Amino acid sequence: MTVNLHTRRNRDLEKRSKNGTYVYTAIWAVIGIGTNFYEQVPLLFYSILCAFLCFGLVRFLTFLFTSKSNSVNARLWTCLIYFNAIMPTMLLSSLLSVSLLHPLFEPLFLFLLLSVFGVLSGGIVNFSPRPDVSLAYVLTTILPPFFTLLLIADGRFMEAILLVLYGTYMLLLSRGLNHEYTLLTTQQIELEKLNQQDSLTMIANRRSFDHILKENWALQSRTNGKISLMLIDIDYFKRINDQYGHLAGDLVIQQVAETIKRVCRRVSDVVARIGGEEFAVIISATNHEEIVHLAERLRVSVSNEPIKYKQQSLNVTVSLGVATLSPNSSNTESELFELADKRLYCAKESGRNTTIHQD
Ligand code: GH3
Ligand code: MG
Ligand code: MG
Repeated sequence: MTVNLHTRRNRDLEKRSKNGTYVYTAIWAVIGIGTNFYEQVPLLFYSILCAFLCFGLVRFLTFLFTSKSNSVNARLWTCLIYFNAIMPTMLLSSLLSVSLLHPLFEPLFLFLLLSVFGVLSGGIVNFSPRPDVSLAYVLTTILPPFFTLLLIADGRFMEAILLVLYGTYMLLLSRGLNHEYTLLTTQQIELEKLNQQDSLTMIANRRSFDHILKENWALQSRTNGKISLMLIDIDYFKRINDQYGHLAGDLVIQQVAETIKRVCRRVSDVVARIGGEEFAVIISATNHEEIVHLAERLRVSVSNEPIKYKQQSLNVTVSLGVATLSPNSSNTESELFELADKRLYCAKESGRNTTIHQD
């Protein structure tokens, strides 16, 4: 189902920054081994390597956790995203700063500089879903070497200015990327919604109904719950079209959809238009008697509320088929649909404006 822009941003950011699980560790291993730093100060080399490994592990676990769980605590998620974005780059840029100050790190300077610029350019693309994270990322990467350049004895101002220019360029670029991302993702979410919605009644369409029924079936089968299905068909609808025209027919479909939504208004109730003048309601975790009661209320509401169309009053009735099943290993959601459909057929056979809920 469609997720909102905020959740989509976080999920995309997680997915895009997957490479960060190993890139920093690899960079440090190559620099440390390539410059023989690991032989000169092995304890320091391995400690830094361990730190990068730990950051990678946290990022990996975050990705694993958020991709498996549907309900992630928003505050925890934000903290993890910030931690994962900031910590490794801060360590790398701090090493660059140290290489400006300490002779032991001096041979690493050029390699660290190249690496910091490299990860920064890649990072702003990865973090473009969240401008706040991009900003934090650029600042934590640029500021440690910037202040170091200003503070060292002979003050290397030209390099500091160049660094600021580069950081500003990265920030502007990340803003542009974020605008592009937001525009495209909003359009994508809208399209997904339209794809799941019936344009006449604005309730779920058949595609969405099939998907939700499958999902709810799987969920109830895990929790040993029940699923009820109500199939609703407008009686003699063809006559309304023939007598009053298609616009009147459309209005009747819309009004019946409104009545169904009003009667079946629990958040978990799923109301869908599954055919021309056919509707369905999926109700999870309730007993059969309650659903039968609800179906009867719906039938009476429709028949008691004539629909106004150009100074005329159209009397509309519906027939309903209701079924409830407990999902298990030997049945499927199609059986529930077939059972409800069979009962709807019986309701039509027995004179319409009726609810049938048992064989
Ligand atoms: P029954 O009581 O047996 O259900 O008879 P009925 O006339 O309601 O059923 P039937 O299936 O014969 O007719 C359904 C009609 O619904 C046929 C089709 O032209 C019309 N229809 C399907 N979709 C739409 C729509 O979006 N708008 C309008 N106005 N009519 C539609
Ligand atoms: Mg009909
Ligand atoms: Mg029909």
